[in-house]
Amino acid sequence: MLGLGNAFSRLLRRAATTVQDPRRLNPQPRNAAALTPRIVPRAEHAISRKNISPGALRVLYRLHEAGFAACLVGGAVRDLLLGGHPKDFDVATSATPEQVRHLFRNCRLIGRRFRLAHVVFGREIVEVATFRGHEGEGEREVHDGGRILRDNVWGSIEEDALRRDFRVNALYYDIGDFSVRDYVGGLQDLANRELHLIGDPEQRYREDPVRMLRAARLAAKLDFAIAPDTAAPIATLAPLLAEVSAARLFDESIKLFMAGHGLASFRLLEHLGLLRWLVPTLPPALADDGGGLRRMLETALANTDARVRGEHPVTPAFTFAVLLWSEVQRAVVQRSEAGADTHPVWLHAAQQALAAQGRQVAIPRRIGLVMEEIWTLQPRFALRGARTRVQRLLAHPRFRAAYDFLLLRAVQDPALEETATWWTRAQQADAAGLAALVAATAAEDGAGAAAAAAALPARSPRRRRRGGRGRSRRGGVPGPGEGGGGA
Ligand code: ATP
Ligand code: MG
Repeated sequence: MLGLGNAFSRLLRRAATTVQDPRRLNPQPRNAAALTPRIVPRAEHAISRKNISPGALRVLYRLHEAGFAACLVGGAVRDLLLGGHPKDFDVATSATPEQVRHLFRNCRLIGRRFRLAHVVFGREIVEVATFRGHEGEGEREVHDGGRILRDNVWGSIEEDALRRDFRVNALYYDIGDFSVRDYVGGLQDLANRELHLIGDPEQRYREDPVRMLRAARLAAKLDFAIAPDTAAPIATLAPLLAEVSAARLFDESIKLFMAGHGLASFRLLEHLGLLRWLVPTLPPALADDGGGLRRMLETALANTDARVRGEHPVTPAFTFAVLLWSEVQRAVVQRSEAGADTHPVWLHAAQQALAAQGRQVAIPRRIGLVMEEIWTLQPRFALRGARTRVQRLLAHPRFRAAYDFLLLRAVQDPALEETATWWTRAQQADAAGLAALVAATAAEDGAGAAAAAAALPARSPRRRRRGGRGRSRRGGVPGPGEGGGGA
């Protein structure tokens, strides 16, 4: 979490004087309200060039030397002021994308909806956006409902500030004099730890519904509050997310869940009523949950957050496998009641869950395939009485992910703890140890099956499946008794 540094508090106190100098970065103000920026000189803020990536600095200097205005903008300025270490640096400039391309050999222009230049330095990509305006040179296309389909009209820095989403995202670090420029009150919001949309919130969400997800994501990431007027329209406007492209929602989901604040994102999305627009099956499953599903989800997200913080690798396949788990369980239970075989049941359930999800958020095929493997290996953990089967599962390339998933299922359903412990021991055992473990389990299962058979007639067929199957050696499909209460 980012802390508000002393330097920054000092900055706010000392920057009481407002310098009026809107022209310098605004050679041809077009119709923009003459905003008076609050300009914080270098000596009074904490942004140091040594915390800016070398690539971003080169872009800023080159643009400046060529006579263009060039500023660091957006998340990087916000996070630097909060004492954080931004991962990417966005640049805003008065140069058009074509002018940027002429200045840099290592540059490509991307995007149709929002045209940008990417300047590439090895693994670093610096995103360079031309100041956007409302009218004039370029093209802007707006949908009936107010959605902005294309935004390629160039403008002044003031106009550019106004079209950004949150006030804390509209702060500029000007390479010309190393000052921080605030046109909309972002500095005050940083001090108050509060997110405000710029302009009329309802209109801004209609222009781009993804801003609702960005509100949740930024509040989670920064541990900021969402201002009441910025939060209020979300309850009614959330359904607008159905119109957003599934590919864009996947990208946004990755930023929500895989960036070190997944648990906070999840809680906020749920609180704001946004979760069902990303994972439609999850809110109903949580409503029916006896507590296990939520425990499993929150544990998984907290684990992922800790891994991100520790700079360990994380995989979206695993996180999405957890997010869609309740739906797979539901489909497995539904189909296995018809008495079908284990593997086809699980595969079908997995594919069904993925297909339903894909209509809202496009999970790339290569990720979907890994999710399918994680899920379809689960019933194999119930088969512990035959050594070759056990060895084959231990050697499976996806064993580790599937085993980690099993550990989470044991968080959902404590009845699985014994199975999870068994597989922990199986991994650690040498060949003789594994043989002994398997033999002991086979003997126990034999006795258990006989006892279960003796007990069965007293229960209804449905109850019987709940009580018996998950634990038995042959019944590979864990029913709700083993798989947990979420189904
Ligand atoms: P992060 O720390 O995740 O990178 P960010 O605020 O930098 O957060 P980006 O997606 O990198 O997010 O966007 C960079 C900047 O572009 C934002 O700070 C904001 O000023 C502007 N921006 C991004 N998306 C939108 C949007 N949908 N509407 C308006 N402005 C946006
Ligand atoms: Mg950014």
